[in-house]
Amino acid sequence: MANKRTVGRVLAKKVPLHKSRSDCLHTITAVIVVKGTIVSIGHNRKLRPSVYNQHTIHAEIDALNTVKPGTDLSKAEIYVSRFNPKGRPLLAEPCEKCKQAIERAGIQRVYYTVQSNELNWQVL
Ligand SMILES: [Zn+2]
Repeated sequence: MANKRTVGRVLAKKVPLHKSRSDCLHTITAVIVVKGTIVSIGHNRKLRPSVYNQHTIHAEIDALNTVKPGTDLSKAEIYVSRFNPKGRPLLAEPCEKCKQAIERAGIQRVYYTVQSNELNWQVL
């Protein structure tokens, strides 16, 4: 089984984390991985038009929404990263709503970036 360091490194290469499709000032990307395979990638972005009075969607929810139906997430990991416009990592601890959604989906391992000069992952 891959440890978080290797997966983090692989993700950094595979996913252009700081050049995602987000249209928000700070780019947040959520990547769901099952046994080393990326099954979904989500971004924070503006909703146009807004949905039920919500103007943005969080990356974690976007990623959860695009997982293929029937995917077993009991062994999944979610990596949440946040970068400033210059590409430096920032704290990306999921908010309460996202934590609950991740829990409901059955994902038990959550990693997120912390503010530093390097790409580091913290476990929730
Ligand atoms: Zn959130």
